[in-house]
Amino acid sequence: MLIRKFAAAVFAALALGGVQAVTAAPATAAPRILYYDASQAQEFKAVVDQGAQIWNNSVTNVRLLPVTAGRTPNIRVYADNGWPRAYTSSLGNGSWYMGRQAVNQGYHPPRIAAHEFGHLLGLPDRRTGLCTDLMSGSSAPVSCTNPNPNATEARTVNTRFASASVAVPSKVYVWQ
Ligand SMILES: [Zn+2]
Repeated sequence: MLIRKFAAAVFAALALGGVQAVTAAPATAAPRILYYDASQAQEFKAVVDQGAQIWNNSVTNVRLLPVTAGRTPNIRVYADNGWPRAYTSSLGNGSWYMGRQAVNQGYHPPRIAAHEFGHLLGLPDRRTGLCTDLMSGSSAPVSCTNPNPNATEARTVNTRFASASVAVPSKVYVWQ
């Protein structure tokens, strides 16, 4: 009887350990991988990679990687003569355009690229006029060269990608 009680106690302790391991798992979970295709970004391929790298250096729950052969990209990047803009279908999925209209006006291309990726990562426009805000977009001066999300923007993206079940409505965001 004593042995049986002891065994039950050991089993309970093991089960508790198991529960603790499960609850600790999300903190060390692998980041969600989003593949992007910059093959149609024309002269902006390098700046698209730069925009992805900026996010990879700023957040931990999601990573933007160049798409590999045979894989369907989550994000397609194009270039044209219009305004930069993003089309989101769901969190982490859609497309965006590197628009020459903004580039020709002098807006900093790496900032545009990081901003448009920001939409694909679930951030809306916030036209605060502040250069320290990545999602202020064209409301910040043309002279603004900050391509990095601020701490709040990075935290918001990490929160969105902490759970796979966050729903983000499909939407179109235009630079100006
Ligand atoms: Zn925008």
